[in-house]
Amino acid sequence: MITKILIANRGEIACRIIRTARKMGIATVAVYSEADASALHVEMADEAVLIGPAPVSESYLKFDAILDAARRTGADAIHPGYGFLSENPGFVDQVEKAGLIFIGPSAKAIRAMGLKDAAKALMEKANVPVVPGYHGDAQELVVLAGKANEIGFPVLIKARAGGGGKGMRKVEHQADFPAALSSARREAKASFGDDRVLVEKYVSTPRHIEIQVFGDKHGNVVHLFERDCSAQRRHQKVIEEAPAPDMPDDMREAMGAAAVQAAKAINYAGAGTVEFIVDASEGLKADRFWFMEMNTRLQVEHPVTEMITGLDLVEWQIRVAGGESLPLRQDQLSINGHAVEARIYAEDAEKGFLPAVGRLVHLQFPDGDIRVDAGVRAGDEITPFYDPMIAKVIAHGKNRAEALGKLAGALGRTEIAGTVTNTAFLAKLCRDADFAAGRLDTGLIERNIDSLTERAPAPDAIAALAVLAASGMVPTRTEDPASVTAIGPFEIWGAPKRSVTLETSGAESLFTVEREAADIWRIAGDAMKTGAMRLDAVRPKGNDWAFSADGVTQRCRLVQSGVEVAVFHEGLTHRFGKQQRKRSDDLAAGGDSVVSAMPGIVKQVLVVNGQEVKSGEALVIMEAMKMEMTLSAPRDGMVAEVLVRVGAQVTDGVRLVLLEAEVKAA
Ligand code: ADP
Repeated sequence: MITKILIANRGEIACRIIRTARKMGIATVAVYSEADASALHVEMADEAVLIGPAPVSESYLKFDAILDAARRTGADAIHPGYGFLSENPGFVDQVEKAGLIFIGPSAKAIRAMGLKDAAKALMEKANVPVVPGYHGDAQELVVLAGKANEIGFPVLIKARAGGGGKGMRKVEHQADFPAALSSARREAKASFGDDRVLVEKYVSTPRHIEIQVFGDKHGNVVHLFERDCSAQRRHQKVIEEAPAPDMPDDMREAMGAAAVQAAKAINYAGAGTVEFIVDASEGLKADRFWFMEMNTRLQVEHPVTEMITGLDLVEWQIRVAGGESLPLRQDQLSINGHAVEARIYAEDAEKGFLPAVGRLVHLQFPDGDIRVDAGVRAGDEITPFYDPMIAKVIAHGKNRAEALGKLAGALGRTEIAGTVTNTAFLAKLCRDADFAAGRLDTGLIERNIDSLTERAPAPDAIAALAVLAASGMVPTRTEDPASVTAIGPFEIWGAPKRSVTLETSGAESLFTVEREAADIWRIAGDAMKTGAMRLDAVRPKGNDWAFSADGVTQRCRLVQSGVEVAVFHEGLTHRFGKQQRKRSDDLAAGGDSVVSAMPGIVKQVLVVNGQEVKSGEALVIMEAMKMEMTLSAPRDGMVAEVLVRVGAQVTDGVRLVLLEAEVKAA
């Protein structure tokens, strides 16, 4: 019997696990880093233990600190969530050595599936269809290039230790193979410390369809049907759903059977996912799916399976880990309706999905018939130390159209201020003609990226309202004393005209606000399509504003912070930046300095003072959440000064390295 679970994770998944444990009457222990001292998962758990500083290598990945926390609190089991230590067999060994239960598969099963090449070989033996390709030991260019020729282009080079799409390169032509191989190897080495690769046939019109499996310690294995995760960007899942659109019954049966076979081949116990790549060039066919890899943990997208089966997968995990048999047999499982999940990230879709940070000064999730799995609350900060996922929003409907409609609506009602998010992009994807019709493959997002990331400029009336709010000239008749726009009497009757600078659509613009009569305001600025706008009957009540423009009364929510004015209007978020932009010549990295393009952590500094560098040579590697960025020399020259060290946390626009000429000029 498990009576107290330590959750070796943070964010939404830690909160998710705590909820189920509580429902089952099991006590919970949270662990947290210094950066997470006031995090939601810490507040939710019965007990919490500080395990180290913010960087994951010093906290959430530290075996000793986590095991020590379990010992001190008397926990009898550890749930690893996903990511972090969830697929680390060495950790499982240590957990078991300490006499604790690991809520997950055996170390042996994790090892069997840990490397893509060995996993494929194992699956081949178990008669599970695998992607045609080469996953042998030889790693010489001539051998791999020869294999690629035999397989036939396009091919995919994959790091055998890969994950998160790293170390993966699609190669269209033979001539590009050598360069692609070395770059895949470099990335694999840097990410996993292992530069060995395999080569696969690149499946055309690919769809990613995975099967949720569950095993117990008595040899039973069932599958909980499929999830379609074909909506991807750079091989990363964006929207996941269950069941897969247009899945024929015979294919579902064949895939389910293959996944169960895969799990049985490694005596799998617990929750796992068998990922397949599907050739959808002629629709879904029962003989056109191939094993890619098995994830030996709970997946981010598990909620869609829960919504269509009515089950709690974390509860199953805990029961199975405690030695119980699977709660249901295969013939007792069925699919009810359709579920879709969208991952809300702090990222700027318009700017190439750059990860963002910031304090969530306002956060309101949609109410109604919607599931939201979040690990943050209003006031929390998104830092560069961890994954920038803010929440998962999950909708369930009688059918796919209903579920997608609900999800799009829910995304429109999601209000987040303080950082940029991808909600508009996600809502557009839900409504994309191809996606809505179920014509999806892993290339869909990339093909439609322009329309999906295009942002309509704010209507003039909304821009005018933001300017007016930022000017501080409107008296607030609010009952809420904490209202951010409250101002004193002098301000109200003082200046009848003010100028305001706000950033809209990436450019800084100057506006003027004039009070023409008691309650009539004229706002003008070049950034407005019509040049000027008159607003009247402006009534703020807390964050809810009513106003009239051109005789039409409108309502919206408006949130002001030190950095921006965010207006939520008709399902869209319009953000107006308040901070003066950094000087553009600083940001553009002139010719003499290398500047961080995103907030993040310095992972590697590859040069020293006085070193000669060539144009394009890598100088610094930065990481922000899941994204790694190499900053290179803008020209040939000598490094005058390295301004940062490894581990430094920097915001965007910070100078990292200076080249010689700049110092002389200074
Ligand atoms: P990782 O472990 O790095 O996430 P995967 O092997 O799971 O890598 O593949 C990630 C994604 O790459 C898949 O979901 C799919 O979109 C694409 N992909 C992988 N293998 C193939 C293939 N053979 N043909 C076409 N696309 C593929």
